Amino acid sequence: MKNLKLAAARPDFSRSVIDVNGVKLGGEFVVIAGPCSVESEEQTVQTAIAVKKAGAKMLRGGAFKPRTSPYAFQGLGLKGLKILDKARKETGLPIVTEVVDTRDVSWVGEYADVLQIGARNMQNFSLLREVGKSAKPILLKRGMYSTLEEWLNCAEYILAEGNPNVILCERGIRTFETYTRNTLDLSMIPAVRRESHLPILIDPSHGTGILSMIEPMSLAALVAGADGLEIEVHIDPSCALSDKDQQLSVAQFERLMKKLEATRAFMLELDASIDAAEQESLRGKGGNADSNSSGANKEQSQIDAETGHFKDSVD
Ligand code: PEP
Ligand code: MN
Repeated sequence: MKNLKLAAARPDFSRSVIDVNGVKLGGEFVVIAGPCSVESEEQTVQTAIAVKKAGAKMLRGGAFKPRTSPYAFQGLGLKGLKILDKARKETGLPIVTEVVDTRDVSWVGEYADVLQIGARNMQNFSLLREVGKSAKPILLKRGMYSTLEEWLNCAEYILAEGNPNVILCERGIRTFETYTRNTLDLSMIPAVRRESHLPILIDPSHGTGILSMIEPMSLAALVAGADGLEIEVHIDPSCALSDKDQQLSVAQFERLMKKLEATRAFMLELDASIDAAEQESLRGKGGNADSNSSGANKEQSQIDAETGHFKDSVD
């Protein structure tokens, strides 16, 4: 892909692993969960405790909400960040939270472990440059009207400022289909893995906007090689101040996490058994099973890099 210097896939197909307080994005399958918005200490801390218990590795929650209407709940701002800090102290979960303004990057970074750039700001180049100067990892959502090339160029803006820690997140795009809130483009998982070394997450909550679609899309994302998920979970979704129809209850999230765990175990086992059978067959033909130098093996290595999430995990 032209113009990409720092975001482009590497010649050896190796991929970036971004360490956030010991959680390895790009190295293990990471589920980031939490409310759409931070609404109160009780709501956020209780949700944090519940999602951690279910297996989430990071807490999400918006203190600055970019809303379609200026009259809708805009987030608690600094008060929300302080609540997130409290939730981190209670659970140990690193915090992912959105920053919407260049003037806020440095002080929001004092509370966040990962700064999120929302879909609406994907091409806000001054904001990208500012977070590129931050020491915090950046979760960059795909803009709702953006191509893969535009998205990766936005990652390039951040990387070019010296911040090497960019995590991509597909959250659905606008198409002619209006049944779902957005059209979740799962083909971006192998596409990103083909074109870039950066970790790729899927947000099935904004990607579909429909509660019953979150579980199937999450499982599909795992199988397709995503590095993780960002999912909205609320302790009492019916009372949520934003995105109330797409937030999972704790029970729904627990069920999803069980299915993800079992699916991942199955995929690991499947890949290991296919590997073993291939090595055995190579040995039978007198080939060097460990060599990666033949044309066919090189081609397979590239395909593995694009799809073979279940072989290169570090956890
Ligand atoms: C969010 O994750 O809180 C959010 C607003 O998502 P998006 O930017 O993808 O709409
Ligand atoms: Mn939301």
